[in-house]
Amino acid sequence: VHAADTDALTLASAAAQSHFDALPLAVPPRLTTDAAERAALWHVRKGLYTAVAGARPSGTTALLEDIVVPVPRLLATCERLIELFAEHGYEGSVIFGHAKDGNVHFLLNERFDDPDSVARYRRFTDDLVELVLSQQGSLKAEHGTGRIMAPFVRRQYGDELTDLMWELKRLIDPDGILNPGVVLSDDPDSYLHDLKRVPTVESEVDRCVECGYCEPTCPSKSITLTPRQRIVLRRDMAWAEEQGDTELLRDLRADYDYDGVQTCAVDGMCGVACPVDINTGDLVRRLRAEQSNAVEGAVWGTAAKHWSMVTRAGGVALTVADALPAPLVRGVTQLGRAVLGADTVPLYDGGLPRG
Ligand code: SF4
Repeated sequence: VHAADTDALTLASAAAQSHFDALPLAVPPRLTTDAAERAALWHVRKGLYTAVAGARPSGTTALLEDIVVPVPRLLATCERLIELFAEHGYEGSVIFGHAKDGNVHFLLNERFDDPDSVARYRRFTDDLVELVLSQQGSLKAEHGTGRIMAPFVRRQYGDELTDLMWELKRLIDPDGILNPGVVLSDDPDSYLHDLKRVPTVESEVDRCVECGYCEPTCPSKSITLTPRQRIVLRRDMAWAEEQGDTELLRDLRADYDYDGVQTCAVDGMCGVACPVDINTGDLVRRLRAEQSNAVEGAVWGTAAKHWSMVTRAGGVALTVADALPAPLVRGVTQLGRAVLGADTVPLYDGGLPRG
């Protein structure tokens, strides 16, 4: 309920209340104007998409649509939409959105790695477009037209307006290099190409919906990858492996060691922001454990149990190094790096202080 002033809000709230009273609800609803209560309710609402998408079966892509119809046609549209889910076998689909504006978001899960599922998605989309346009609605409401609805723009707006849009597009972008296929597309099947596949990779991160909420909290985001990118690249590697693209797989694996594994701080800050409780650090910790050998594990396990001794030894080493000629110490560390690897032995620099 939304109004420009208190009086209008009181009236609108009373009208809403009379609707609630007529519904067979499990719990009587209570409207609030308290900012804290409102914020808590919005928190739940804003997490809805990710929470529902996070519970989807592994290997499926969560699709979120954004249609709008005139408010008096909202009920009929939603009822037909529920029938379409049943007719096309989309179980567990969820409808939410902004009812007062006739704006519906719905979410369905689909696999895009098998042709039968893609064919089903084509049939469903045809029926959806028919439904929305027959209700004098719009195929896109508050979000951009993007790629899925681009081939249907002509059907919604007619030839004259669509040709005008194309004319403008060609004036601004004569070579068609700006977001090709987005908003306008002359390929009637473009919505079935380049669909995002979400192969099953590992249980720690399969729920990821790639929303990116974790990205601002990640301390390594400006050095290498964000948690979302760490997960997406695992999926890309799984996809490359499935497709037999060994060259891509080799390149991704080679870069992932440093960008994905070694530079993750494993501090779990991503888990604090993630609406589906993914801590990408759990994945990275496991990958590190799989990479390390027993000797390495035993050495670091012992070091961890005697950490003050380790840091004291480090301090003594720095003091000794400081007393020796810097090129000599540098040469020793260079030798160590050549034998044990540059990521294992730090390169001594004459500018380092005493311990
Ligand atoms: S890991 Fe990041 S991108 Fe994935 S669901 Fe959680 S917050 Fe979103």
